[in-house]
Amino acid sequence: MYPKAFQQLIDHFSSLPSIGPKMAERLVLYLFKQSPEKLDEFAKSLNAIHEIKTCQQCFNISQNNLCHICLDKNRDQTKICIIEEPLDLIPIERSQAYDGLYHVLGGTVEKNNDSLTINELLNYVENSEIKEVIIATNFTTEGDLTAMHLKRILNEFDVNVSRLARGLATGSDIEYADDMTLQSSLKNRERM
Ligand SMILES: [Zn+2]
Repeated sequence: MYPKAFQQLIDHFSSLPSIGPKMAERLVLYLFKQSPEKLDEFAKSLNAIHEIKTCQQCFNISQNNLCHICLDKNRDQTKICIIEEPLDLIPIERSQAYDGLYHVLGGTVEKNNDSLTINELLNYVENSEIKEVIIATNFTTEGDLTAMHLKRILNEFDVNVSRLARGLATGSDIEYADDMTLQSSLKNRERM
């Protein structure tokens, strides 16, 4: 019932996480009403996503082969914080309670086991100055299982393993945690 180009855009938007068909229709209608200049800018930004890379060391999103955190030698090179997704890094950085390195796992143990960067993590821990691994997976069932799995395989290495303290409610995502909660969670991290 919609023109083909209109429907195709709706389909694209509907395929995005958290966007249902009704919301997709509203977004496309909104775009339809915008100026050609604004739409051009939007299309350019969308295309430029090809230029964004994954950091070769920590798997954070990055403009270059290594992200700004891995390149910053003033950061504590003896600590590494394991997070599920790149978005989890933002609130931890914003809390200013952590100045070590990161490692983006790419998910949790059972959801997409094959694509996780666990081998890369072990490789890095083995060949670096890391003395403490801080696990900051979400406080969900999957996050808990992942933390336990990581603890088990990190046992072989000469590193302390800790996890963020449960200042965060069970079932909560690091991504949405506020500064105060993260500060105390990091400070009171528990040895596993
Ligand atoms: Zn990096």
